[in-house]
Amino acid sequence: MNIHSRLISAIAIAVTAGALASHGVWELTVAVTSKSTFSAGALLELSVAAGLAAWLWYQLRHMQHALPTTRVSLLTLPPPRPGFNRTHAETRKQREENPRYHARILDSMIDAVFVIDHAFRILYCNRAAGTLLGRDNAELKGIALGRLLQAQQVDALLEAIDAAVTHAGRWQGELCFGSSQGIVTEAIFAPLTDSSTERLGTLIGVVRDIHARKVAETYSGYVANHDPLTALPNRSLFRDRLDQVLAGADWQRRKIALHLIDLDSFKLINEGLGQAQGDQVLQRIAQRLGAAVHQGDTLARVGGDKFALIQTTLHRVEQSAFRAQHILDIVEPTLTITGGRELNVTASIGIALYPENGVTAEELTHNAELALSRAKLEGRNAYRFFVRGMEEEMRVRCALEHDLGHALMHDEFLFHYQPQVELATGRVIGCEALIRWHHPKYGLLYPARFISMAEESGAIVRLGEWSLREVCRQLKAWQRKGLPVGHIAVNLSAVQFRYPGFATLVDQVLRDASIDPACLELEVTESLAMENPALATSIVAQLKQLGVKLAIDDFGSGYSSLGYLKRFPVQTLKIDRSLIDELATNRCDAAITIAVIELGHSLGMHVLAEGIETQEQLDFLRCHQCDFGQGTTFAAAMPGGEFAAYAKRFAVDATL
Ligand code: C2E
Ligand code: MG
Ligand code: MG
Repeated sequence: MNIHSRLISAIAIAVTAGALASHGVWELTVAVTSKSTFSAGALLELSVAAGLAAWLWYQLRHMQHALPTTRVSLLTLPPPRPGFNRTHAETRKQREENPRYHARILDSMIDAVFVIDHAFRILYCNRAAGTLLGRDNAELKGIALGRLLQAQQVDALLEAIDAAVTHAGRWQGELCFGSSQGIVTEAIFAPLTDSSTERLGTLIGVVRDIHARKVAETYSGYVANHDPLTALPNRSLFRDRLDQVLAGADWQRRKIALHLIDLDSFKLINEGLGQAQGDQVLQRIAQRLGAAVHQGDTLARVGGDKFALIQTTLHRVEQSAFRAQHILDIVEPTLTITGGRELNVTASIGIALYPENGVTAEELTHNAELALSRAKLEGRNAYRFFVRGMEEEMRVRCALEHDLGHALMHDEFLFHYQPQVELATGRVIGCEALIRWHHPKYGLLYPARFISMAEESGAIVRLGEWSLREVCRQLKAWQRKGLPVGHIAVNLSAVQFRYPGFATLVDQVLRDASIDPACLELEVTESLAMENPALATSIVAQLKQLGVKLAIDDFGSGYSSLGYLKRFPVQTLKIDRSLIDELATNRCDAAITIAVIELGHSLGMHVLAEGIETQEQLDFLRCHQCDFGQGTTFAAAMPGGEFAAYAKRFAVDATL
């Protein structure tokens, strides 16, 4: 073999390999002999290799753009064995000209390859195509591609592919094969051309399964838009949906209601029971809220214990009120969480309407927030619509929140005392101390305006200690004057009650004021007793040991299980005002009141009815042996000086 022939062969291989490699698509590995001298056989082999490489390059030149994502590696010629000769080269040439050899190459590709005719019937497909569709690839021959696709309008899709291939030289996009869930693929179709680049009327398609990638994309999209705890849309998806709904609402002339739903006193649950239990409560409430979602609505978790509902099918404003009430009703029933613990959770809802209360997502959300604050301020477990003027109210609330921090230092709190009366005799047996805030700008404020604020900010702990000291100081002052005031009942906040060392504090306060513990009654609520029964039981036991009296306040207003009563050695059950209110007109309330009186007595407790306003209510309670009472029919809460005079007047039997 002369030097020229060797050079030509080497250049042919180098050019071919270089050209293919330069497209970054194909890797061609040609193993050549390492012998320094070439025989005639070696030359032939090199020529064949060069020819094959050139042929491959030429054949694939028109497909190179159609395969940007496909990486096929390999056409490896084994290194020639010693004794490599003409016969081997001829055998190889024959093998490479054999169509089965090319089929093997295609079958070793990981991407599916389809050759289809003008009617989209499959003329050829490789093994990967069969694997993709879960069939033998030979079976697929002759089948119309459209029958294998999962698309709403297959014909339109195929037409689009045909048009793109004709005009742009290729079609690239996603195709979904198979039935039910489908196999998502990325596909490229291009015309098949012959050696003179003439179109042969057939298309070649390379198809890659991207299902796994899609699943990963879908999952990351889901994670970015959903709350992991409740699986509800998160704030960002909520915002998108609200924008979308508002964009369509104008031309559809639709009304929309935005409900912001906030759980009442959730902070107490979280702090009292721990975060794991708090999470469980949120999950259970989210499930319950799901029942209030209609088709087209969006329910989202937009904050710690805050949810949002976009109500889209609204013809009349009342429908949003019904929906809000429905939400309150489904949240309220007793929840049983891990360990059989029972909880009563309530929610407050603020509603803003489109277009009346705002036309942008910001306006609606802001106004729904204001309405929510109003619902919270007005006693919770309620819904409120946005109305003008709430902005100003919110400003006042913010000012109060700010001023609360200094109010204690500025001596702005005081107590009013409401007499508690023995119903059978009319004798004053004591009083309930009810806190007031004398605000320099807004005047006398009632506890509903600031107690929850103080609980949320934690200021209640200091305020609570001040209250105990102030009440004991007042009692001691009356006792020193020899006034027959009986006991003083003090309301406790759950935060204050659970604060470490509470019983020790009470003991200290009583000692400091030299007060007989039996003259102090501490009022706790049902929910406080229920939230963390183990802790509550232990604190109650410590207080009992001190000798102070205990009362359950607002009994009958919640849904507590009665079981806890036996663990709580309280002296007094205070029937909630809501039951007394309709005593004369509501047979159920009357029946419950009678039952509570009997229950209290059978457990060895005294029963006190709150909020007695009429003679009728008083007569009913006396008739059913209720022990004590409190309400405007006797006297409203009054400053200390007035109460001292009142107590003196009614210290002995009064005419009822
Ligand atoms: P509560 O302990 O159930 O107190 C009874 C509330 O009912 C008092 O309202 C009282 O003024 C009112 N009331 C009494 N009799 C009648 C009546 O015949 N008719 C009507 N309509 N109302 C009557 P107030 O003073 O606004 O207290 C509200 C709540 O604030 C109290 O409910 C108690 O839970 C809380 N609270 C009051 N003082 C304190 C305190 O010092 N510390 C804490 N943590 N909470 C307090
Ligand atoms: Mg009370
Ligand atoms: Mg009460």
